[in-house]
Amino acid sequence: MFTDLETTFEYLCARLEHVSPRAELYLQSERIVAIERLKKERNAVVLGHNYMEPALYQTVCDFKGDSLQLARLSAETDADVIVFCGVRFMAETAKILNPTKTVLVPSERAGCSLAASITAQDVRDLRARYPGVPVVTYVNTYADVKAESDICCTSSNALKVIESLNCDRILFLPDEYFARNVARASSKEFIIATRDPASLLKKEDSIEKVLIGWPGKCEVHERFTVDDILGVRKQFPDVIILAHPECSPEVVMASNFSGSTSEMIRFVKEQEAANYLLLTECSMADNIIAENPEKDLLRLCSIRCPHMAQITLEMTQKALELNRYAIEVPEDIRLRAKRAIDRMLEIR
Ligand code: SF4
Repeated sequence: MFTDLETTFEYLCARLEHVSPRAELYLQSERIVAIERLKKERNAVVLGHNYMEPALYQTVCDFKGDSLQLARLSAETDADVIVFCGVRFMAETAKILNPTKTVLVPSERAGCSLAASITAQDVRDLRARYPGVPVVTYVNTYADVKAESDICCTSSNALKVIESLNCDRILFLPDEYFARNVARASSKEFIIATRDPASLLKKEDSIEKVLIGWPGKCEVHERFTVDDILGVRKQFPDVIILAHPECSPEVVMASNFSGSTSEMIRFVKEQEAANYLLLTECSMADNIIAENPEKDLLRLCSIRCPHMAQITLEMTQKALELNRYAIEVPEDIRLRAKRAIDRMLEIR
């Protein structure tokens, strides 16, 4: 579809002229055409997370979605090269599921505050402290942490994963707010563990049903507050507010809906209301507007994920031209991490 510069430019202008100037869109069109050519030459597919910038998300991505959807899709592709337009832990998941394929992430700087909050040693220490308690890790973790886990989960399947374990006590790592929100939804109490064993009160010994969490945070979602919601509702009383479950429980409770990025996109598409506020990464609102021009999305949008923002059309083109940055996962870690991911993918 994007093999011709003129048609590509027209397409971008029709969808994104309200977001970017025409000169910028022309430059983007040249990059899109180049990426499409490189994809053919290298038998490559581009996977794009819902947080990608609109010009990239609306054009070169062969598959789009949240972490769970992209993990499933990456397991099914027969391309030789997977370019993962998302952050490093997502590209690692694609490599874990496709060890013989080349998996590229377009920027070395696409990290994640949440993934960086916990190490494999932290998980081993927690296991020693809570023997026999199963470990669920959010997919927003690095491969070595997944390798120490019993099962992974995403923001779309966490409750199903918890229920599948049928256990009263579960270690749920590493996002504290997400764990608090899941604990509330699954009628369990929440206790936080830390790196310092001396700080543990062992209160959890007396609690029958408990999620034991970790003080990791998403640097984007932790910034939304209940005051933000009250301020917007004062100005726009009819606004529908959607919060990602990595927001604090107070913010989630003050919102109309909470769900994964794909669940939020579906929710907006299916509703009749005109005004929405998304409490998540800003690019997603631009992408929803591009696909639903009749809807109005209010923004609190100085809030972009600095890691997701590293992934641009320019970097994606360079990734394919220079075969950078290739993801490698040591085989012993890959096999153990794959077990935790496969167990999650079996849950429908
Ligand atoms: S939005 Fe938050 S969880 Fe997602 S990559 Fe950025 S820092 Fe990590």
